[in-house]
Amino acid sequence: MEKIKMTTPLVELDGDEMARIIWHMVKEKLILPYVELKSEYYDLHLKNRDNTNDKVTIDAANAIRKYGVGVKCATITSNSDRKIEYDLKNFLKSPNGTIRDILDGTVFRKPITLETITPLIPRWKKPITIARHSYGDIYASTSMEVDAFTKAELVLTDRDNNEKRTLVYDFKEKGIIIGEYNLDSSIRFFAESCFKHAVEEKTNLMFSAKDTVVKAYDNKFKDIFEELYNEKYKEQFDNLGIKYTYTLIDDAVSRIVKSEGGIIWACKNYDGDVMSDMIATGFGSLALMTSVLVSPDGAHEYEASHGTVKMHYYRHLKGEKTSTNPIAIIFAWTGALRKRGELDGNIELVKFSDSLEKACHDTINSGIMTGDLIEMSSILHKKCVTTEEIIDVISNNIKL
Ligand code: NAD
Repeated sequence: MEKIKMTTPLVELDGDEMARIIWHMVKEKLILPYVELKSEYYDLHLKNRDNTNDKVTIDAANAIRKYGVGVKCATITSNSDRKIEYDLKNFLKSPNGTIRDILDGTVFRKPITLETITPLIPRWKKPITIARHSYGDIYASTSMEVDAFTKAELVLTDRDNNEKRTLVYDFKEKGIIIGEYNLDSSIRFFAESCFKHAVEEKTNLMFSAKDTVVKAYDNKFKDIFEELYNEKYKEQFDNLGIKYTYTLIDDAVSRIVKSEGGIIWACKNYDGDVMSDMIATGFGSLALMTSVLVSPDGAHEYEASHGTVKMHYYRHLKGEKTSTNPIAIIFAWTGALRKRGELDGNIELVKFSDSLEKACHDTINSGIMTGDLIEMSSILHKKCVTTEEIIDVISNNIKL
């Protein structure tokens, strides 16, 4: 069989631990036998990020801007334990944070639903997509420890040196403080991409924040969404019979749990980070979730939404077998290859992505799966297999 050729490189960002082990298995067994892969490779292994003072992460993000499509493996965000474990020179920033700061945009996370996997929340019949704003807020914040008897103020100095200041807190004892920001342009793009996605998917959209408490900050988000909706999207929504709703984040959580799904839930950066794990777990597993960052200039970065699966990696290092679910990593690859195919008019690449995703569905629906899915599968005769075994079965199930 002749391999599918590519015209434009895909930007490939390698990562850490068990996710990295699976990444290479997926490439070797599921991609390279079928596709003459043209990729621009960046190794985001923690040691390499440290050795390059994180230049490799910045270069990778800029390459995604240049070529338009990237695929990223999960990476470790270093903390003091990891600094010792990997003997690091630096405290590195979260690579996802660095990439999102460069690309800006919205991350769409959608569960991969399967007929034989019953969600932990059985009312959920249709996918719930999280649209996570991927710029600013706590991920770009500055925090400090504060000594007792210290007055903390927020000071804005304009270019003519005029100051606006407001008291944050007059500390009589030791404490902590944080400053965070966002930009109108980024919020507007976030809102625009959510409305566009709702129209494309013909699905209701809900945006949630906490405007009753964080008045100037969250009201800005709420107002920008409302203005854009009334100016540009209301008519399209009415024609499609879909709805836009704003509600408080606590009300949104309760509505989501009680719903049947079939909604796009737009969340601020931190809410989206937390709620996407809740949605993925509610639907079955962190490994049954797709994730794509869409930037204002049209770049797409695909990834699995789970982490590096550290505990499985430690078992793997001891020579033990693991049963780690590769589905989200495979779907990161198929998402990126399909987008590359669509942009380049490469129908074979699009068809291959569809076939590989179908092979994943067929495998789990046939009763062969990893340990994380066993309890949720409705199949009577099911088998829990190892990481390598499931990839081999998926490979055998690919029908081109
Ligand atoms: P994790 O997602 O790796 O694991 C969380 C839990 O879910 C664990 O119990 C794990 O066993 C299970 N799990 C996750 N993916 C699975 C899979 N494919 N198959 C079976 N079970 C799976 O998150 P963590 O343990 O909190 O973090 C480990 C490392 O990952 C940390 O260093 C963190 O910085 C990093 N991380 C990276 C990303 C990313 O790059 N996108 C996201 C989250 C965490």
